[in-house]
Parts: sequence; structure tokens; C-alpha cells
Amino acid sequence: MIKPDLSLLDEDQRRAAVAPRGPVCILAGAGTGKTRTITYRIANLVDQGFVNPQRVLAVTFTARAAGEMRDRLAAMGVGGVQAQTFHAAARRQLRYFWPQVAGDLPWQLIDNKFSLVGRAVRSLGADNSKDSIKDFLSEIEWAKSSLISADSYPEVIATTAREAPTDPAKVAEVYRRYEQLKSTPERMLLDFDDLLMHIAGAIENVPGVAEVFREQYRTFVVDEYQDVTPLQQRVLNAWLGDRDDLTVVGDANQTIYSFNGASPEYLLDFSRTYPEATVVKLQRDYRSTPQVTGLANTVIGKATGRAAGTRLELQGMREPGPEPTFRAYESEENEAKEVAGQILTLLAQGVRASEIAILYRINAQSEPFEQALADAGIIYQVRGGEGFFRRPEILEAIRVLIAASRREDLPDDPVAIARAAFVELGLSATEPQGAQARERWQSLNALVDLIAQIVSDSPDFDLPAVLGELKRRADAKQNPTMEGVTLATLHAAKGLEWDAVFLVGLTEKLLPINHAIKAGDEQIEEERRLFYVGITRARVHLALSWALAKSTGSRASRERTRFLDGIVPEVAQSHTAGRKYRPQRCRVCRGELQTPAEKVLGRHEDCEYQGDEEVFSALRAWRSRAARDAKVPAYVIFSDATLRALSEDLPGSDAEMLDVAGVGPAKLERYGAEVLEVIRATRG
Ligand code: ATP
Ligand code: MG
Repeated sequence: MIKPDLSLLDEDQRRAAVAPRGPVCILAGAGTGKTRTITYRIANLVDQGFVNPQRVLAVTFTARAAGEMRDRLAAMGVGGVQAQTFHAAARRQLRYFWPQVAGDLPWQLIDNKFSLVGRAVRSLGADNSKDSIKDFLSEIEWAKSSLISADSYPEVIATTAREAPTDPAKVAEVYRRYEQLKSTPERMLLDFDDLLMHIAGAIENVPGVAEVFREQYRTFVVDEYQDVTPLQQRVLNAWLGDRDDLTVVGDANQTIYSFNGASPEYLLDFSRTYPEATVVKLQRDYRSTPQVTGLANTVIGKATGRAAGTRLELQGMREPGPEPTFRAYESEENEAKEVAGQILTLLAQGVRASEIAILYRINAQSEPFEQALADAGIIYQVRGGEGFFRRPEILEAIRVLIAASRREDLPDDPVAIARAAFVELGLSATEPQGAQARERWQSLNALVDLIAQIVSDSPDFDLPAVLGELKRRADAKQNPTMEGVTLATLHAAKGLEWDAVFLVGLTEKLLPINHAIKAGDEQIEEERRLFYVGITRARVHLALSWALAKSTGSRASRERTRFLDGIVPEVAQSHTAGRKYRPQRCRVCRGELQTPAEKVLGRHEDCEYQGDEEVFSALRAWRSRAARDAKVPAYVIFSDATLRALSEDLPGSDAEMLDVAGVGPAKLERYGAEVLEVIRATRG
């Protein structure tokens, strides 16, 4: 294996990576390199001979994250580490141990939970509308992942703050019947939570199972630990037994699955559970510019609750970049069109399509954006929607490859075979015209690239082996990165990053979502964290927007999200709404401004400067002090052009200050009071 290059980590990250076997907790904010650090920690433990790679189990939150970790480890020459979701790991283990637990009785994973719960609901004569069944289902899921049985459910509801969707006794009965419907004399149906429950039970209760399992796995790593459920924690405890070789990483401010029963308490209590644990806090955010982290800090700074007590101020380590933008649009359609237009501009500037994402709260919001992107001829992929491996052209391509693999006269090179075989499916030598054909061409190309990558990782792979690997990736939903703009929900964006992020649909009832508003403060805080997760996905460009009405011409009944209150003042809201239609004019001659430099100045460069020289030099003196205190170069605080604009406009309030070119909400939050004070003091 290749020695992991620990010089690619900073000092704090390295301390976590090189800590000897035993409990380690990394409690750190978004983009600080948690995921990167655990990957290096695994590589280092293996490299130092502390553990055999086959004895490591790394648990991540999504199949995609697990796939990525395997890939990164493989790139460091560490093969054989199991990186999986809790469910996938449990499923694999249960398959192995099942005969010892249940003998000959076969089990099967439920493929349609909804219809089974529907049957339970109907058998009870309860409301069987789709929404009602959905409510029952998610309540049962919550109870199971919180380790609450049907019998104890009403008691829990009576004694905690949780509100049941309907009569708790009814929920308990549907829950009970659902459980009964799953077991028949011939076979046992299991849902995802049952997998976890059974594997924990088997390790806890069946002698022999624990022994075999604990011999197999010795070192455990959990990413995104803030979102672990009591049920998952129980599985983790069963895996560990009385051992303590556990590394966890997480960020309590990114807890976004509480509605599922997830709880950051295990993360926050880790050093109480393991007093000898190495605890590392990371603050440096390597993902984002100071402009992005500034906004993120401001947004999460308004949070309340236990996680808020653990707040770490993110320090953006990237070069300064553009201020985040805030825009109100008349309708969803306008919002989508404008976003597509801005994406075209980014593409023209050389930002790659795969480095751009549009993020929203719920899947249903993607539609107008898909339409606008298609109209603009921009390739995109919807994450969590139709997965790569389920696209018709990819299914077809894999069928063609399977047919090809049966031929005798096969050339050796799987890449060459694929390229030749895909010509008839539309893989021409050059990119075709037309959005449909282009998309097809792009995904076939992505498949060829993927095959090339598999072969370069494992040069001895022939076509059947490549097909096996493709199947594994398809099962793990490990889609290749395509040259397309990503559309995803905020939940699906967790852990990921892009150069440019558009956070859209930022209105009340969407973010925070309506049911959270009804449920109260705790749920609203979860929505705020979701917003924070969204903001921290951006490396450089971040655009936030909302539409005041659903469609053009209808009443402007929507309100901007409360999470921007005090960040984007109400006055700026109406200004920004109209700004794009209004040319920016020179404050001296009123002529239209063209270049970015002119726009920052607010006047033509040769139109006479009319600022207050005294204020300008007072602001410069203040800026030097502020830069020294913050240990950053002066221009990071404000550019000269912005100081000039300030000394011309002489703002007297936060709102006026926001109207000055070069001053965004994050800067306002940070320096507004000081700048206003300097201006006031100088003008007397
Ligand atoms: P999240 O909370 O969103 O999951 P994270 O803490 O897991 O974030 P990573 O995804 O590991 O953060 O890292 C964020 C980005 O910063 C990645 O692009 C990573 O490669 C980069 N990065 C991390 N540490 C360093 C470092 N020491 N030097 C340079 N780049 C780094
Ligand atoms: Mg991460």
C-alpha cells in the first residue's frame, strides 16, 4: 500500500488521524475535513499495522458516501475495508448469521412498506387516505428507530413532548398489526429497522454470533454521527461489546434527521461515555470562502437548543470570493429562468457543470428548474430522483454489455468493447445536438469513463468482472459524477460540496416546511440546521432566492423565509427584487454603469469622486486595525472601492449600508456597527 501522506492534514486533523487505537471523537463544523480525516485515520491505522483492513467497519450515512470512502481508500492503496451504511452492514451480517438465529425460516426484505401499513390501517377501519397512511408509517418508523414498542408507544406520547399524528392508541394498534402482518409461518418479512433490530438481538443474545462477529471486526468508524438513532446506537454497542476502538465524527449543527429519531446526544456525550477519548475540534473550513462561512456563521448563530451551545465559528480558508447574493422573484418560473441564466454565465466563466448545484427543500420543487435548465440546453441530473443506473440508456447499455460478454471472440479490453457496443445506442464520436440526444450521449460517456476507471483500479478485470463491479455500484446507488448540474434536496446534499450552489425556494412553508411550523420550535430549529447544511455546501458562489408567487400573474402571497430575517433587511428585499431590471447608474452623471469596477464604485471611474475624504481615511485606519485583529489582509475586510463608496453614500443605518455596493449581509453582520460608528464619529 501507499503510505498515507499525513502532511496533507492540518495539525488538529493529524492529531485525530494518528491517535492510537481507542476512542476518538471529532466534533467539528461543516467543511473542516472530518470525512477526510477519518479516511486518513483508517489508512494510517492500517499502515502502522494497528489493524488489518478486513477488520475495519466504517459506517457512513448514505450509500453514496460509503462508495466514496471505499474509492478514496482504494486510491490510497487500502483495499478490503468495509465502508457501508448501517442498513447495508446489518443486512450483510444478518444474511450470514440468520441460520443461527432463525433456522430454516426464510426472510425477505419488504419492498412495499406503504401497502402493508395500508392493510393494517384498513383492517382497523382507520382513515386510509394516502396522507393518513403516510402519517402512520412515519410514526411507526420513528418509534422503531427510537426503540419504542407498540405497547409502550401510548405511554411515551403521554409523557413526552412528542405529538402523535392521531389518537396514540390507534397508532399503537396499526403498529401492532403491521408487525403481525410481516410474519407468516412460511417466511419473515423484514423492514430496514428490523434488520438492525435482529442483528443487534443476534449479537446480544445468541452465543457464538457475538464471538464470530467480534473476531471479524475490531475497529469501527462512524461518519455523520450527529444523526445516529437509538436503534443504530444499539447496533453499534452490540458490535463493540466491551471494546472501545471507535472513531466518531459529526457536527451537532448539522443534525437534520431528528424527525426520524436521530439524536446528536450520543455525539455530544461521547467524552462522557469514553472519558479517555481523544477529542478533536476543527475550526478551519477548507471548503468555503470567508464570504460563505460568514453567512453560515450568521445563520447558525441564531439557533437555539443544545447543539447551539457547541457552536464553533467556521473560519473560511479559501481565498476571498464573491458575496452571497439574495434575490426575490415574482414567480417560481422567473426564479427558475433567472437561475438557469446565472448558471449559463457561470458555465461561460469556466465553472464546470458538475460543480454547480440547485438545492431545495422537497423533491416536488425540482420541476420548474428542470424545465428552465432543459430550455436553456443545460445538462442536469436529479439526485435522489431517477438514479444513473436506472436511466433507460444505461439499463440498455448494460444489457448490451451482458450480451457481449457471452461472445467467444471478445477482445481483452472492456473499455474498447463498451465503446464499440455503445455506438448503436447513440455514442457518436462527437457530442450531438439537441438536449435529449446530448443527455443520452453524456450518460453513455459517463458509463465508458466509469468502466475505464474500474479497469485502471483493477487492471486484471475482464468484462464479467467489470459487470460485477457495475452491479455492486448500482446496488449501492453509487452514481458516477456526470458533467451535469446537480438538482437535489437539502437532505440529499449532506456531506457533499460544489463550487456554486443555488439555494432556491426560500419561502415560509417550504423552509421552514409547513409541518415544522405547525410542530413548533424544535422542528423549526431543525429546518434552520437544514438551511445551514445547504449554505455550507458552497465553495465559492452562493445564490439564495425565493419567489413571491407560485406563478406569474398570481397574487404575491409568499413570504421570504424567516431564517433571513435580520440578515437581508426588508428594504433590501424589494430593492433586490427589482435590481436586475434596473440598470445601475452613476451617482455623479446618472449614466449607466458597465464594468464590475464601476459598479462597485457606483460611478464611472472618471466621474469626479464626491466622497468625504475625512471619512475615507478614518475608515482606512479602522480597516487596518480590524485586519490586524483578525490576522487577515485588509482587502478581505473591505476593498478600497467599497470604502470609497461608503464615504460617498455615508450610510446611517443597516439598511442604507446594505445598499452600498460591496457590502453584503455577512459583512454587515460583522462590521456594520463599527463602520456606522466610524462614520458617525468622523462626521460629528
Ligand atoms: P461536512 O460537515 O460537510 O461533512 P467535512 O468536515 O466532512 O464536511 P470534508 O468533506 O472532509 O469536510 O472536507 C471539505 C473539503 O475540504 C474537501 O474538499 C477536503 O478535501 C478539503 N480539505 C479538508 N482538509 C483539508 C486540508 N487540511 N487541506 C486542504 N484541503 C482540505
Ligand atoms: Mg463530511
